[in-house]
Amino acid sequence: MPVKLEQLHLNDAEEETNDLKEPKIVPSDKQICDGVVLLWRQEPASEDLGPADLLTRIISRNPQWELSREDLEQVLSGHNLLFTDESKLFTYADEVMSRHPPKPNPKVVDKMELREIRSGRWSFFAAKDLRRDEIIFYEHEPLTPILPLDKASLASKGRSCSLCGQLLTQSSQFTLKNLLDCQACSAVWCSKHCKRLDASTHGFLKHPTSKSKLVSASGWMRFEELCKEHGLQAPYAIGIVYARIILNRQDGAHIQEELESLAEVSQLLRTKAADSTNVGGLFDKTTGAVNSEEGPVWNELFKSFCTAFPQAQEQGFDMDTFLKNVGKYNINQLDGQIFTMYSHLNHKCEPNVRYEFEGKTGLRLFARKDIKKGEELFTTYVNPLHGVTLRRRELLVNYGFLCRCSRCQKELKSRQEAHTKQLAQEEPDQLTAPRRKSSIKASRPDLSELLKNGQEFDLEIPENLRLERRRKSVRFDDRVMVALEE
Ligand SMILES: [Zn+2]
Ligand SMILES: [Zn+2]
Ligand SMILES: [Zn+2]
Repeated sequence: MPVKLEQLHLNDAEEETNDLKEPKIVPSDKQICDGVVLLWRQEPASEDLGPADLLTRIISRNPQWELSREDLEQVLSGHNLLFTDESKLFTYADEVMSRHPPKPNPKVVDKMELREIRSGRWSFFAAKDLRRDEIIFYEHEPLTPILPLDKASLASKGRSCSLCGQLLTQSSQFTLKNLLDCQACSAVWCSKHCKRLDASTHGFLKHPTSKSKLVSASGWMRFEELCKEHGLQAPYAIGIVYARIILNRQDGAHIQEELESLAEVSQLLRTKAADSTNVGGLFDKTTGAVNSEEGPVWNELFKSFCTAFPQAQEQGFDMDTFLKNVGKYNINQLDGQIFTMYSHLNHKCEPNVRYEFEGKTGLRLFARKDIKKGEELFTTYVNPLHGVTLRRRELLVNYGFLCRCSRCQKELKSRQEAHTKQLAQEEPDQLTAPRRKSSIKASRPDLSELLKNGQEFDLEIPENLRLERRRKSVRFDDRVMVALEE
């Protein structure tokens, strides 16, 4: 009987064809840092992974990346995400200071007292024993309402409040009846209160026909566009605050005085401490993310700012002031607004106070635990659910200091201990080391044992072998010769 031989494909080689075509890419430093930071944000426990396990996790999230353990370690060390000597890290907290102490209304802050903790820095202390959940103070309104940049387009179309940005749900009849619309443009306000607060600046910034030596409406609109283009809230906020200072005869001087009492630092120093701006990362657009290559953006924005406010430079508002104000806004803003009293609270990763937004514009501060008279009040600048590495990095980049609070010390110490223990345990059999069990690499099966039992199993293909194809499973060669009967 003649036998015809035919070659057949087995296994899953065929269905993977599309997958195979996906080319490997060498990620940039920024992509690597952002990937690691994102993992730490989403899974705080992943901060404890050693470099090998970290690489496995990063590759499983970014399968197309071509990245070796050495490269990963080098990039992370180069960007201060992995370091052995803390003292070499760049900090700028010593440069953060206020021009003069704040002058809080004694009626509002009767439970706290202000003390200078070092030259140019003030902080609040409990003026009496405070019980847990007790209200400490209430700030009715921020320094001056700042329109969120992402509401600017809706506001100019009359779909959100021109001052506070709140989306408008009111009927046009209600708007007209209450005179909440602008006679000269499409702006609308959510309340009489917002319209009144916006009265000093709205026309000068939004009506090209308005006459003022201090403001050019067309220049302002270009500045607004530029801020939108770069997605930068901070310079936009600075522009709004500056406009209120120079145009609002009633409140301008007060706004300026309060603003000067806030801690200030040049955005350039903050940019120097940041080397990874990231997707969902810690130094995002609202907190002033501009990576070092984007330095010229500030020149462009300042030039545009000067077109909007033609006399700014003459009045002493130069590039340095601009950058200091951008830095000031970024370190003091809370949800985009500046609450002057809240701004003077210092940080601890285990705070003794907490805040709640109250009504449309207010902020209330509560004791988070019992506080003794004379104790300093601490809020938290970062998400307390994050792991210690991420918290400290965020504080370092955004606020310029390495946190050495008791919680950080405790967590760093226990990590150090776990690490030492892990090293001691790792030697004879990696499979039994409990810390490594979670990793795919560590749970790699004993092949000879499995082959003996005739089981099918998934085999991990090392990523750095530059294989032309990846296989989900391996049984035998995927091309076999079969004999077909004629
Ligand atoms: Zn409003
Ligand atoms: Zn108008
Ligand atoms: Zn801390």
